[in-house]
Amino acid sequence: MGNLVRMIANDGTLTVMAVDTTDIVSEMEKIHRTSAVTSAALGRLLTAASLMGAVLKGRDDSLTLRLNGDGPAGAVIAVSDSEGNVRGYVENPIVEIPLNNKGKLDVAGAVGRNGTLTVMKDLGLKEPYIGQVPIISGEIAEDITSYYATSEQTPTVCALGVLVNPDLSIRAAGGFIIQLLPTAMDDTIDLVEECIDGIPSVTQMLTSGMTPEEICRRVLSKFELEYLDGSEPQYRCNCSRQRVEKALISTGRKALEEMAEDNGTEVCCHFCDKKYRFSSDEIRKLVKNLSI
Ligand SMILES: [Zn+2]
Repeated sequence: MGNLVRMIANDGTLTVMAVDTTDIVSEMEKIHRTSAVTSAALGRLLTAASLMGAVLKGRDDSLTLRLNGDGPAGAVIAVSDSEGNVRGYVENPIVEIPLNNKGKLDVAGAVGRNGTLTVMKDLGLKEPYIGQVPIISGEIAEDITSYYATSEQTPTVCALGVLVNPDLSIRAAGGFIIQLLPTAMDDTIDLVEECIDGIPSVTQMLTSGMTPEEICRRVLSKFELEYLDGSEPQYRCNCSRQRVEKALISTGRKALEEMAEDNGTEVCCHFCDKKYRFSSDEIRKLVKNLSI
């Protein structure tokens, strides 16, 4: 289970959220059998989605992050609900590329440095909110910061990290997001910059045993922070046979009739790899319902 906290500076100038997503990213790795660099890429995006989703107000609201870069990983997608529960997938789960020039997993090399980051918020309104920014680094945290600056005019500091063991299991994963509130002054920004200068990486803090609350306090050591709320997010898919039937129906009569010719159809959920089997008779029944 993940651990997510949200805190506020007691002078009301900023909020900070931090999350430990080690269990979430481990679950993702078990489902998708990702290589190290794609674990890092999708793990970072899941972590960002969890933090960004946790501030949605409505119970049924959801948030989707979609990175469409020109790298070998292809599209990377993460979806969160309003409690920070997430699911996701990467188009090509196995990418083997050399480490970057800092000796780290080359997430930007896997994602690509050209393309777009799309943020879609379904807030239960007629149309979802959609914001899109060009990828500026491909390392994901900078791209999330750029999204907030450009689309939401909110000064943000974001850090995301995934540490992968040599056997490809996940050692640690997590992140934090600091956001200035409209009451922030110029010296608030300076103070934040002073604070984050030289802090350890998120995965260093997690592997040293720090909790998300301790990470918030460590990252903003010059601020007095108050606890606002928290949750225990999980890797959670919401697929069901009913949803898969709807998706099949949406492919149209011709596609369904062709499917009915086959000796059964299997549909696999992109997010959790669960398989749904439909016999020819069941497919024919969907066609029949279509004509009513
Ligand atoms: Zn699923």
